[in-house]
Amino acid sequence: MRCRFCDTEIADKALICYRCGRATTDPRVAPPSRPRGIPLPAALGVIAAAAGAAVGLPEVADGTVLYAGWAGLATLAAGALGLWWGGRAGRR
Ligand SMILES: [Zn+2]
Repeated sequence: MRCRFCDTEIADKALICYRCGRATTDPRVAPPSRPRGIPLPAALGVIAAAAGAAVGLPEVADGTVLYAGWAGLATLAAGALGLWWGGRAGRR
């Protein structure tokens, strides 16, 4: 087979290319990836802030503005959850 990095012809059973020294197969243990996303307390903080704002929202807005505000807050909370969940899924 050929080394996928330097294209040198190497033995079929070779684990490491003799020329460039790189592994011919993917490492079994993937290197730890840096956690993405945001920690759960941050996500919960954003959601709590959004919930608190939603409680006070009817005091300062009504009608379309009120619904728009709720939609925005829901999007904010969902975004925070999504960021947290995304970081969780990437952490293996
Ligand atoms: Zn090579």
